[in-house]
Amino acid sequence: MRTNALKTNVLLIEDNEQNRYLVTFLLENQGYRVTAAVDGPTGIAAATTQHFDLILLDIQLPVMDGYAVARALRATPCKTPIVAVTSYAMTGDRENALAAGCNGYIEKPINPATFVAEVSRFLRPAHEEQQP
Ligand code: MN
Repeated sequence: MRTNALKTNVLLIEDNEQNRYLVTFLLENQGYRVTAAVDGPTGIAAATTQHFDLILLDIQLPVMDGYAVARALRATPCKTPIVAVTSYAMTGDRENALAAGCNGYIEKPINPATFVAEVSRFLRPAHEEQQP
């Protein structure tokens, strides 16, 4: 649909149902379209077959952690920015996220007052120019 094509498409890779609900609610409330994946392999399959403007990636995931997901995605032609969403307090984990190919990170717990603004910082200028 044409209206959906104008929306910013976000892929959310997150295993926690409450976090999926909160992130989806916050983003959809601001007009984003959100596709959720509950684990890394499902997220990678989505990211490599559909267009997304941004990938939000939980680090603590079953089977394949977020670092492995980011490394796998960066080994594909997918150039979509990846933002790690991490509750890890140690700065080394942020560095690990960047080293794995993430473009940045947002800290958990998610702050509903600032989350969408944080997400929007990682969208490409070319996309913003498409906004009406
Ligand atoms: Mn998790």
